Amino acid sequence: MHSQDYDRLYLSPPHLGRHELNYLHKAIEDNWVAPVGPNLDGFERDICEATGVAHAVALNSGTAAIHLGLRLLGVAPGDEVLCPSFTFVATANPITYLGATPVFIDSEAQTWNMCPERLREALEDLRRQNRRPRALILVHLYGMPCRLAEILAVAEEFGVPVLEDAAEALGATYEGRALGSFGAVGVFSFNGNKILTTSGGGVLVTNNADWARQALSWATQARDAAPYYQHSELGYNYRLSNLLAGIGRGQMGLLEDRVKKRREIYAWYQQHLTGLPGLSFGPAEPAGGRSNRWLSCLLLDPAATAVTPEQLRLHLETHNVESRPLWKPLHLQPLFAGATMYGGAVCTDLFTRGLCLPSGSAMKETDLRRVADAIREIIPA
Ligand SMILES: *Cc1c(COP(=O)(O)O)cnc(C)c1O
Repeated sequence: MHSQDYDRLYLSPPHLGRHELNYLHKAIEDNWVAPVGPNLDGFERDICEATGVAHAVALNSGTAAIHLGLRLLGVAPGDEVLCPSFTFVATANPITYLGATPVFIDSEAQTWNMCPERLREALEDLRRQNRRPRALILVHLYGMPCRLAEILAVAEEFGVPVLEDAAEALGATYEGRALGSFGAVGVFSFNGNKILTTSGGGVLVTNNADWARQALSWATQARDAAPYYQHSELGYNYRLSNLLAGIGRGQMGLLEDRVKKRREIYAWYQQHLTGLPGLSFGPAEPAGGRSNRWLSCLLLDPAATAVTPEQLRLHLETHNVESRPLWKPLHLQPLFAGATMYGGAVCTDLFTRGLCLPSGSAMKETDLRRVADAIREIIPA
């Protein structure tokens, strides 16, 4: 058995370029394998340049970046943190790591991200109960900007600091500015299936120099400035290795190209499949927003087609094509049973009706045709 099936069309496989190996070679030749090294500095500089944020800290996962970011915002045991329900579990798990509790908010139908009206309702309702959330996590799901202007205005009005989970949104923009640069803290993931990858990794960005230093210290076991190992604070082993940062450097040079390619893939699907009964594409860009189209997603309307997303997924499997349901909302997860939830109908409906299609930036037109032909077999025009 081979570990990889070369005929299989994967959802979002890694797509390396020509320069990653050079950075790896150099790191090994110069013996900069661990623990720090020039690739880490260079990778962090690349991130700052691409996002316009002053400071970046490279970590071993996006989840670690969210964990440190929430701690920077002061999240502590007993606190509540506002969070969209429609997201990957990694957005919310660090809330629990810190002994705090998530309060979930529904999506709106255009961007599929946090609904500003529901957010306001939640903040007003919590205020009536004297519950003041410590932080708000925003997510730009599938690389689609949320309705940032409205949400940031509400957050400011209620005095809640924002962490921006841009794990899926590297290279996407809002009003011409990089996503991840709007919150007090921003987070990116370089996990294997994201738009760029270091095989595994994450980055925390902030304009606050003290916070960047603090995050770096926590990520490296929070060692005091002493010749021996002395620790006053709780730390973690969260730093990215200099080797993997080398892959990141090679990848960062490809960002624009990868965004262009993913957007073309989405446009291709839309052009070639729109019009099939009950099938539509989404989410849609808000005013001022430009998605990176990390994953191309479709929705099926049960009033217009008898085919369910699960039937379509299994049909694509018979063609050795991987597809995947949309994220299952967190308020429906056994892990978060009993959590406070504001709304829920929108994200539950999206979950019930949606499917993510192969969207890797190395896809060729013949690959796209293979997916489209398979879909047409089961949903004829
Ligand atoms: C991938 C992802 C994360 C976590 O990133 P890792 O690098 O896998 O830890 C967090 N939030 C969202 C929305 C993600 O898609």
